Amino acid sequence: MKLSRLPLHTKILLGLLIGVFFGLLANRCGFSGFVFTYVKPVGSAFIRLISMVIGPLVFASLLVGTASLGDIRKLGRIGAKTMAFYLCTTTIAITIGLLLANAIKPGVGLSAEARARLIQSTDDKVNTQVETSLKKPSILDMLLNIIPTNPIQAFVEGKMLQIIFLALMAGVCLSLIPPERSRPVISLFKGINDLVIQMVHLIMKTAPYGVFAMISAVIADLGLGILLVLCKYSIVMVLGLILHMGIVYSLAIKTLSKQKVRTFFRGIRPAQLIAFSSSSSSATLPATMECTEKNLGVPAEICSFTLPLGATINMDGTALYQGVATVFIAQVYGMNLTVSQQLTVLLTALLASIGTAGIPAAGVIMLAIVLNGVGVPLEGIAIILGVDRILDMCRTVINITGDATCAVIVASSEGERRKQ
Ligand code: ASP
Repeated sequence: MKLSRLPLHTKILLGLLIGVFFGLLANRCGFSGFVFTYVKPVGSAFIRLISMVIGPLVFASLLVGTASLGDIRKLGRIGAKTMAFYLCTTTIAITIGLLLANAIKPGVGLSAEARARLIQSTDDKVNTQVETSLKKPSILDMLLNIIPTNPIQAFVEGKMLQIIFLALMAGVCLSLIPPERSRPVISLFKGINDLVIQMVHLIMKTAPYGVFAMISAVIADLGLGILLVLCKYSIVMVLGLILHMGIVYSLAIKTLSKQKVRTFFRGIRPAQLIAFSSSSSSATLPATMECTEKNLGVPAEICSFTLPLGATINMDGTALYQGVATVFIAQVYGMNLTVSQQLTVLLTALLASIGTAGIPAAGVIMLAIVLNGVGVPLEGIAIILGVDRILDMCRTVINITGDATCAVIVASSEGERRKQ
């Protein structure tokens, strides 16, 4: 079969597998430098192309999505369902993480020597970021910061929550003014939305190369050896993520939608592969939207509402990770977290995951807030840093799968999913 005739998701998968192999070869045979200089820029170009369209895509699609939901009651209903689903699944994810980490105890038995060696490899840059995250404003200030004082600045600085706020408010207000006056504005943004989506189609054609380049650079840098040192921790994390996807999402799809579980996972696969190699829910958003609409039959206005929101606030993989990592670090330091401390972890991880940006390594920075909440030493972050990139790739897959699950379920509950 001709390579160019293969479906996109197969090409992306091929790019990923060849990238892993090439990265391992580079790591073993000492040509990682070549990969960083000549291959990695292809991945960076892909990410830059996608980042270029995220702001306009989120704004235009949310505005059009909100405005075209029609009446304000429907918007409220869909908004409530979406938020309820996001909060419930994130709480379940953290609970799974906490249960597994308490049952398997990955941090018990890590030798003091191994701990010292891992801490030594701390990255100063991350240290500073962790410190800044702790200086972050209170929850009230964080909520206030969602309201932009200057809309242009929100775009310039790429503040996603502010962009979402603006788009939702504009969409609601458009549905409150007479149709003959709102129609031209909605048409304009529909046009912008179509334009951005067309750009996404084009960019997605380069995805297999971008994925190849990104993954080979990561593997050339880290190798797979570091996984062995933190083997038990990594296994617990990946096990938790698999359980969450395999049980929670599958059950939710099976019971709350009319979609076949297998069709769902096949349809979302291209986006999962991009999430895996980019470690960024935001960068994956265009692909998530494309797969959910085209392969899973969710109408555009529901995708436009649930997915941009989910890419920013719904991070089940990250939340599960923060639960496991907190218990793991506490165990390494010989601390026993009480039930009430673990409830604090649940609450702070829920909030921290909502506040985590959909970009690589954002979860590990926000982990500082969770650790701080229960008095677990922050230096512990250094212990898990070595494997963080690889686990970040895995948790991002779960993050975007959760968003797509929600879109399918909301569409089914509204009786609006197209038959596949
Ligand atoms: N990289 C993740 C995402 O974009 C966030 C994280 O670091 O957990 O979804």
